[in-house]
Amino acid sequence: MSPTPRVFHDPIQLRTAIRQAQAEGQRVGLVPTMGALHEGHLSLVAESQKSCDLTVVTIFVNPTQFAPGEDFEKYPRTLDTDLELLSRFDPVWVLAPEVAAMYPPGSTSVVQAPEIARQLEGEFRPTHFDGVATIVLKLFQVAPADAAYFGQKDFQQVRVIEEMVRDLLVPIEIVRCPIVREEDGLAISSRNRYLSAAERQIALSISQTLKAAQAQIEAGPVDVHALCSEMLAHLKASGTAPEYVTIADPQTLKSVETITAEVVILVAAKVGATRLIDNMLVSPPSS
Ligand code: AMP
Repeated sequence: MSPTPRVFHDPIQLRTAIRQAQAEGQRVGLVPTMGALHEGHLSLVAESQKSCDLTVVTIFVNPTQFAPGEDFEKYPRTLDTDLELLSRFDPVWVLAPEVAAMYPPGSTSVVQAPEIARQLEGEFRPTHFDGVATIVLKLFQVAPADAAYFGQKDFQQVRVIEEMVRDLLVPIEIVRCPIVREEDGLAISSRNRYLSAAERQIALSISQTLKAAQAQIEAGPVDVHALCSEMLAHLKASGTAPEYVTIADPQTLKSVETITAEVVILVAAKVGATRLIDNMLVSPPSS
């Protein structure tokens, strides 16, 4: 039986301990999460362990990235199970702070997310990325790691963080990790636990639509507009309510007219009351 992770509730104590570890020559990796851990999160921990001596996992459901009416209150909080899952890794430290520890009473300072945050998710969740950028910068302050690991599952989020780190000269390396999927293709997400069995079946159409588009792009030239319309139609016919489907430049996230190099296909769709996102990086045959 592996030891359970060392748990910090006080961010300042964590920072002191990390600095000490680094002074002793340890390379520290950071994995920011909102908890309700699953194999997607654990793949980030595993990746960190490959090149770091110590991995710090933060578990914090960040109120400022949820808009009123979103699922902040009902977001799953499963700290005991999370710690059990993390005990398969060693050494891992966990930061599980109270809201007041990350947002000291009276605090009004926020990070304005970079321009790239305005489109896609930003159109449907206009305050989301400011909340993400603010908490991630705070986490970088209290967990001054050498590298931080983010999933490509939240493709736009990782681009936002990369740009924030560049713009604000934050001394940390950002490492992107691939999407972990269930065997049938569904991208693993903490929100999947909201889905009924019937809704989960409907949700499968998201990854299936992405795979079908990937196959078309890999097979030869495609009409981007026609392909996006086809994807939208398939998602609707399957019972989801798509918010956007786009084929975009992976760097700028602007939609492309023609596919001449690697693109990212991004989808957001509601299945019942649950909002899901997924994406796939695809290259045309000649690139
Ligand atoms: P969250 O707890 O949803 O804020 O996610 C924390 C981190 O885990 C983010 O960097 C996510 O992109 C990443 N993540 C979530 N789901 C997956 C997945 N299925 N595969 C890889 N990374 C993931």
